[in-house]
Parts: sequence; structure tokens; C-alpha cells
Amino acid sequence: MFPLLKANENKLECLLCPHYCKLASGKTGICRVRKNTGEKIELLTYGVLSGYSLDPVEKKPLYHFFPGYNILSAGSFGCNMKCDFCQNYNISQKVPGNMFSETTPEKIVKAAASAEKNIGIAFTYNEPVIWFEFMRDTATMAKKQGLYTVIVSNGFVNKEPLDEIIQFIDGFNIDLKAFNNNFYRKLTGADIEPVKNSLIQIAKSGKHLEITTLIIPGQNDDEREMALQSEWIASELGKDTPLHLSRYFPMYKRDDPPTTQESLNRLYAIASDKLDYVYMGNTSTVEGQNTICPNCGMTVTIRSGYHTRFLNLTKDGKCSGCDTPVYKMFTLSS
Ligand code: SF4
Repeated sequence: MFPLLKANENKLECLLCPHYCKLASGKTGICRVRKNTGEKIELLTYGVLSGYSLDPVEKKPLYHFFPGYNILSAGSFGCNMKCDFCQNYNISQKVPGNMFSETTPEKIVKAAASAEKNIGIAFTYNEPVIWFEFMRDTATMAKKQGLYTVIVSNGFVNKEPLDEIIQFIDGFNIDLKAFNNNFYRKLTGADIEPVKNSLIQIAKSGKHLEITTLIIPGQNDDEREMALQSEWIASELGKDTPLHLSRYFPMYKRDDPPTTQESLNRLYAIASDKLDYVYMGNTSTVEGQNTICPNCGMTVTIRSGYHTRFLNLTKDGKCSGCDTPVYKMFTLSS
């Protein structure tokens, strides 16, 4: 287990994410949920829920991690980024003054074990990295029960804690919010380099990885940037890493117009040139939803909303036309 803090003069330094907040007694970090309470940095949101729901795993979004199953999803409050376009700002950028612990790892694992068509537990909605202790205790217990675990994260985490997270998490959806550091600096209050390092670390670990990019008009919809992003994913993480291009809607501090379907289509075509599996999210088009075998071009999954229908697929997730392994984390759902 890595040390979560180190003493630094009269302060405690949090080692969880690259902000390295140095907290005087009584102060909380940038994430607003980790507080120096004297001798330790306390997690204020242990057992505190902002959302709790049995969701289709496709909703995370994860399209290649036990497709067709549900996953019990839980989240809390706070975030270590300050995205001015946050689509979940009510729970990420606002932390209630009065919070109470309403659940335990035991309760969540028990509920997950008996939930319908459920593959495991997802830590999502707000940023799960800052919920570290609760996520670790719950995920470790869940894995002992044979459940799978997922994290939906911004990837802004230090190497040592991520090494530990990789031990108890099976599937990752990481935001790559743009492929330039100006965007990260200006719109998120963070840097891109630690996120890229996290992506490489997860890919090298062999754990399941998918990526999401929310496309914001005029901010990260440059076609050359998408070409560079998809080339980087292909060369550093593997061309079979699924990429979800998600449509933006005005939210929180931004009032740019929603992403147009034409723009999404163009970026989808550019990314699809380099990557095997590119999807479009937050949109009602049929294109960009299905999974096509990258080798022979056969359609192996048709998606409509969160409904998933398999065809031309073997029991172990291979294309029945050419034997290409499309899904590595797969059990045929009824
Ligand atoms: S996890 Fe929170 S307290 Fe710790 S360094 Fe990051 S923002 Fe600061």
C-alpha cells in the first residue's frame, strides 16, 4: 500500500494526484473532500453517495467490457479538475456542507451480488480517484466475491496510487479531454501529461481500457488534433483501444452551442482511420453505435440506445467470420 501523504513543514502533503496539495491543519485540498484533520488527511466522503444505480455497462461508456450486462454504479462528490464544461457539475464542483455516510463497502457488495444481470461495481459519476479509500475497500471486497470492478475517471492521478488501483480495478474508462495542454490548462485546471502517463500505465498493465473525448465546438474539435490523438492512441496504447467521441451540450460555465452531428461525423471518420473501434456518444444516429470486426468488416454487435444485440460472434467474443478476438472481456448475455 502506498503512503497517501507525507509531512511537509507544518503541513500534510497529499500524494494522491499531481496537484500535491499541501494542507495546513483544518484545510481541504482542491478536490474539497480530502482534509487535514491534524495527524492525517481524512476522506470526508467515505460512504457518502451522490448517485447509486444499476446501469447498462454501455452507459459508462464501456462497449467492450461484458457488453449487454448491467453494472451497479456508485459515485460521491468532488473532483480534482475544474472543467468549466463539466456535465456533472452539480456533484463534482459542489460539495454539500453536511454530508453523512449512508453506505458501506459491505452493503454495496451485497447489493451488487444480487442485482439483476450485474457484472460488478462501477465507481463513476464524480471523480473516483479522490474517493480512494472507499473505492479500494469496496473493490477489494467485490473482487473476493467474484465481481468485476470499473472506474470512470479523468486519469489525473499519480503513478503509485494508480499502481494500486490497477490491482483492484478490472476496467477503465479514462477521459482524454483534448490532445493539447492549452485546453487542459485553460478549461480543466490540470495538465495533460499525467493523464497520458496514466493511459500508458493502464495499457501496459493489460487491464481493460476505453477512452472518452467530449467534443466541444471550437475547443477540441480540430481535425489535425484528432488525427494526432488517434495516432498516439494507436501507437502508445494499441489500435484496438475503443475511443468514444461524445457530443457536448452547454453546461455549467460554458455556453458554446452543442457539437454538430457533421463535426462529430468528421472526427469519427478521422479517428476510424487509425483505430479499430470508434463510437459516437450522446447522439441519436445509427452510425457509430455498432461494433464491426476490424479484420473482415462483419457487424458483430448492433446497439440501439442501451440495447445490445450480438450477431456473427462466438461464445468467447470472437468474430465468427474470421476468428478475430473483438471482445476480450465477454460472456454471452441472454
Ligand atoms: S486528491 Fe485532492 S487533496 Fe489530494 S492532491 Fe489531489 S486535489 Fe489535492
